[in-house]
Amino acid sequence: MGFGGLGVENTEVGAALVSKLTSLPKTMDTPIEASETHSNCRPDRGVWLKGGSAVCTPPAKPAPAPWRLVLLGAPGVGKGTQAELLCERLGACHLSTGDILRGASKSDGCGLSPALQTALEGMRRGELVTDGTILDIVGERGRCLRCSGGFVLDGFPRTVAQAEALEKLLAREGVELDAVFDYEMPIDEIVERLAGRRVCPKCKAVYHTTGQPPKSEGVCDNCGSALVQREDDRPEAIRTRMRVYAESTAPLLDWYRKRDLLVTVPAYGAPDEIYARAWSCSREAHPGTLTPTGSLGGG
Ligand code: AMP
Repeated sequence: MGFGGLGVENTEVGAALVSKLTSLPKTMDTPIEASETHSNCRPDRGVWLKGGSAVCTPPAKPAPAPWRLVLLGAPGVGKGTQAELLCERLGACHLSTGDILRGASKSDGCGLSPALQTALEGMRRGELVTDGTILDIVGERGRCLRCSGGFVLDGFPRTVAQAEALEKLLAREGVELDAVFDYEMPIDEIVERLAGRRVCPKCKAVYHTTGQPPKSEGVCDNCGSALVQREDDRPEAIRTRMRVYAESTAPLLDWYRKRDLLVTVPAYGAPDEIYARAWSCSREAHPGTLTPTGSLGGG
């Protein structure tokens, strides 16, 4: 379904999307003031990160027309940053499978199933976790997929089998994707970014040793914690992740293109520029629904 292509505004789905787009704040695709974002009242993603009977605090705010997006792109292209911006501005929830796995790997190992322990070892080497394990994890978080706040999926799906399973899960929950943003960047540049990436284990701020260094070397500007390099950002793991991306995840592009959901976004420049470009690429790809006149900032 998604944008439905040219002329879709004359269909029922297209009309619903046009109405959704025109109900958005006019500044949605431009840099906005912190006070205009949802960041101060965003839920803690308790359900997504912990699964089971966990709750989100505060509960997600229902959106009149919740956005449901998937982000694709090679590791290191900046999907996480874009996911955060999209969530702040659309009021949706950032659903990252990598965050769930990293959270599990930080636990003391007690209570982790053997399958999950094996998965985490593979993850440290930059390999993909098996489809079965990932689908078990996502399957028990159906509440997040039907959440009336909407979602931005980051890192899932990563294989065609996962995309097929997601399609079924969404159908079961009675919801549909609005779009799939694919962020693109030359591979050499991505490898350089990953190798220099440093993250704050406490507040999750992301830095780069040369491109975006902290004020004091190795120390988080926000909370003063010592910055770390993700295990899967080490050179050997980066090579594995790039190979795995080309083999397993790149085929997803065609899969979503055929469903008329794919929006290709060149991912150069500052995060805000990439954010705005995503919406202008959407308008170019789907002029029938993403009209420049209303909510999307007037072009
Ligand atoms: P990310 O933070 O999305 O780059 O994910 C970090 C790592 O978690 C990946 O390199 C994989 O090992 C694992 N992972 C995350 N999501 C998935 C997924 N959907 N399928 C398989 N492995 C995943």
